[in-house]
Amino acid sequence: MEIDIVSPSELNSFSQCPKKWYLGKIGRTGIAIDDSHMIFGREVHKVIGSYFSRISDNPTDDEIDYQIDETFQEELSLKDGRFNQKLQRIISNFKAFEKERRKKWKVYRPVFVERKVVYKPFKGVVDFYGLNDGVVIDWKTGGSAELYDSEIRQGNVYKFLLENNSYPVKKILFCFLDLGRALEVPMTTVGWVMKEYNNMVDMVRHNQFPKRESKLCEQWCPYILDCQFCKMCLWEGM
Ligand code: SF4
Repeated sequence: MEIDIVSPSELNSFSQCPKKWYLGKIGRTGIAIDDSHMIFGREVHKVIGSYFSRISDNPTDDEIDYQIDETFQEELSLKDGRFNQKLQRIISNFKAFEKERRKKWKVYRPVFVERKVVYKPFKGVVDFYGLNDGVVIDWKTGGSAELYDSEIRQGNVYKFLLENNSYPVKKILFCFLDLGRALEVPMTTVGWVMKEYNNMVDMVRHNQFPKRESKLCEQWCPYILDCQFCKMCLWEGM
């Protein structure tokens, strides 16, 4: 197996568990897992992207409040009532963040939102790229408002992609909307990012897909049965 272009989520998925990545890659069906959080996050990203196409260049606080409410009301297709409270927190924190940003940034509106950017060997979708000397914002609807290796990997792949597409990057912010916190991702070197990629390429080339078991296996891995029983003969000893 060979790999060519990878996204930060693939890089992270491989790092979390190479076996899970491999089973997904070869098309194992797996068991159904609860993907409602992923669907909710995708919907919120879509609505935020749409908000930026509606808002004016220099909005007042009232306009920000109004447009955010209006866009969420008109464009969010969310049927799962379990997310109602979380959604209210997200809307309220997004409004607060945007009103603060409006005061501080010379140019309020982004250069682009939700854009796919490619530069070999990476690809990715950048949530928000703004002037203010080049700030990347990634909206998070879940998570624990901490920066782990996965966030550092993701943020720095975005930096690599943008800078190689002539968009300078001064800062990468991860905004945890549910918790109302924005954290700045530490910048690494291009060498660090490439080392992460080369490590994955090497392991794939040598067919090394070790299991990385964790307490999350049962919650997030559709291949748990495949993983547990792959070397077992079920009728042995009958
Ligand atoms: S069950 Fe756990 S160890 Fe096995 S493939 Fe899935 S994530 Fe990896």
